[in-house]
Amino acid sequence: MKHSPDTPFILLALLTLSLVVVLGLVAAASVWGVVWNIISIVVLVIVIILGLGLLSLFLALKGKLNIPWLQGFAHWAVNALFPFALTLGKLFGISEDAVRRSYVAANNQVAVAREIQVQPDEILVMLPQCIQWSDCKVKITNDVSNCRRCGRCVVGELVELRDKHGVHMFVATGGTLARRVVKDIRPKAIVGVACERDLVSGMRDVSGIHVIALPNERPYGPCFNTTTDVDQIEDCILTLLQ
Ligand code: SF4
Repeated sequence: MKHSPDTPFILLALLTLSLVVVLGLVAAASVWGVVWNIISIVVLVIVIILGLGLLSLFLALKGKLNIPWLQGFAHWAVNALFPFALTLGKLFGISEDAVRRSYVAANNQVAVAREIQVQPDEILVMLPQCIQWSDCKVKITNDVSNCRRCGRCVVGELVELRDKHGVHMFVATGGTLARRVVKDIRPKAIVGVACERDLVSGMRDVSGIHVIALPNERPYGPCFNTTTDVDQIEDCILTLLQ
């Protein structure tokens, strides 16, 4: 039988190429293994750090952790996981507002447990614009003192509270203005009133400042003629002054 002289070399070339391909796959698998190991280690470290953060939060909620930097650590972990908590809440049928209210309550509990004491002029009471009666023509967003205290909304009583305790008070039309006011006044503590969504985003914005937050009351629905409990605001101020 006659064979073409180059036939064995074709086979050899194919076998060699096969070996190269196998080696390439093995090399790729081992490189991916290294990459995967690095990713796993990084993820594990992040999970451990977040776990410690949540443990700090648990201890803070139990009143057994009064170390500011660990509370800050807990705050960081909560903020990092909060978007996941919102998504998981939806899966379990828990509304976003309920999760946000829980966030606010947890933050308040930790904030009160810290027992910080500040001077009156280091406190800023931040109010939403929708707390003003909708038909009121007085402009209170630049200066809440412009309120004529007519009694149609709660702003008049809040201004009296401001004068009584000597704290700052501001009515913010939005997050940008609120941030600017915080930057200008540089308070050590904020008592914030707003809807849950604005409270959470505001609290995440001003991490580092002591915040006590109160969800507003919405007897006419969202963003319209909202109100708040003045006694509760005064309790918050007194907590900070004690
Ligand atoms: S209490 Fe002040 S803000 Fe409210 S309606 Fe009267 S004047 Fe306007």
